[in-house]
This record gives sequence, C-alpha cells and structure tokens, in this order.
Amino acid sequence: MNHYILIILDSCRYDTLKAARPKNIRKLGSIERRYSYASWTSPSHYNLLTGLLPHSSPRNVFASEYYKKDFLKFSERLGHAGIEFKSLIPKLYFPAFLKEKLGYSTHAMVSLPVLNPKTVLNHGFDTYQLMDKHNDMRAMVRQMKFPADRPSFHLLNVGETHYPYALPDEPMEEWPRISGVHGVFKHLDSEITGGKLLKRKDKFFDQEKMDLLRKRQLRAAKYLDGVIEELFDIVPKNTWITITADHGELFGEEGYFGHGPVFHEKVFEVPFVEGKLR
Ligand SMILES: [Zn+2]
Repeated sequence: MNHYILIILDSCRYDTLKAARPKNIRKLGSIERRYSYASWTSPSHYNLLTGLLPHSSPRNVFASEYYKKDFLKFSERLGHAGIEFKSLIPKLYFPAFLKEKLGYSTHAMVSLPVLNPKTVLNHGFDTYQLMDKHNDMRAMVRQMKFPADRPSFHLLNVGETHYPYALPDEPMEEWPRISGVHGVFKHLDSEITGGKLLKRKDKFFDQEKMDLLRKRQLRAAKYLDGVIEELFDIVPKNTWITITADHGELFGEEGYFGHGPVFHEKVFEVPFVEGKLR
C-alpha cells in the first residue's frame, strides 16, 4: 500500500496557485479547478477527512453516483483495491478507516488553532499536533517519518497561504493589518477572517491593500513550492500526494475580504492536484 499525504494550503485560491506556476507541485499532475464543500476551515477539514475531497461540480449526475466514483479513486491513491464509500461505514471518517481497517499510522500537523488537537477532528489519528508557528510548513516536513513496516497517512494543514500571508522569517511587526481583522492566531474565535467589507466610499475599503494581500498570497504559494520540493526529496517512492485548499479567499471582489461568512464563487473555488512522483 502507498503512503498518503494530504496537503491543505489554507485559504489558497485556485488562481493563486495557477499564477504561481509551481514547477514542483506540477510534477504531480495538472492543477485542476475544483470546489470546496465549505467556506471556512473547520467544516471544510471535517469534510476532507470524511474522504470527500473538493468536487468538480459535475452536471446531470446524482450525488450518490459522484461519491461512488470519487471514492474508487482511493484505491489508486492508496494502492489498495476495492475501496468504496461504504468501506468507511459506520464512522465515515477517513483517518479512522485508514488506521483501524487498513493498519496505517496516521498523523496530523495543523497550523490553524481552530483545528487544534482538542477538536473532534482529532479522531483516528496516532499523533495530532498544532504547530508552534502558524506559517511554517518546513517545520512539518522536518518531522515527517515514513515507517517501512506499515503505510502512513499525513494530513498537513499549511498556513503560509492564510491571512496575513506571512513567510516564516517575516517579523510580525511587518505583517499587513486590515482594520477589524487581527489577532488571527491568538484567539480561536477570530480565525474567521472573512466578511463583507464596508462600502467603497468608506475609508476601510482599500482595493490597493486588497491587491497587496493578493500578491502576498501569490508570494506564499511560490515559496511553498520550494518547501514541497524538500518534501518530495524525503518521501518514499510509493507515496501518493494530494494538494488542495480548504476554501478560497476574497480580495475585494463584490466587497468581500477573506473567507468564512461569504457566499461567492471564489471562496469555494480551490486548486486540486495529485499523483505519485515516480
Ligand atoms: Zn481555512
């Protein structure tokens, strides 16, 4: 069976990852446009961990048929024939299925406090860790282990692409501030960074600042492609990797910023790329 790594670039827009032209990530396959089932971090990760990855919004097909087809893909991802939706019954929770039914060692490293180890998401994991810094994927890569005696599953929730789109070596004093959005990482309840901005005539709406933030997310995506190259260097050859996002992000479109209490196509649109390296 394959090792399986599910990488969630928190808040990373589809068009951000495309624009980054990530040469390493693209070694896995082409970057697809898909849609998240939820618009903010917690419900989206729960959904991902039920095994339902971002969907392609297919027309003229029943949801049950789509799920059936989507789950068959796990046979290829895991290198284990016969995996289907009903394999996950009754828990319908992917880490528990991997651990209890397939004998995987299961590990999560998360960046956002709303996903902390005390939440219900931590079920079926052998280890589950909230990282010290919200924006250091390299620290995760350095901790990853792939035992030879059994396959392993790793969930990585990566925070560099989340507001304020800061790289790990960037001093906090230099992070940009949006009026009304702060303390993202100190307080659990302030992780929901989205919302409707005030009207354009209001001084708080500042498209220039939005454009700057968007560029910062692009810079973070380019940077992460380098960290992912370091990951590629350490994974065993029988490893399947899926890279996607939990939701998108709004940068001023129709008066919205961020994600969460936002209903807009761009908050559901996410990148999706997966494959085996060799
Ligand atoms: Zn998120």
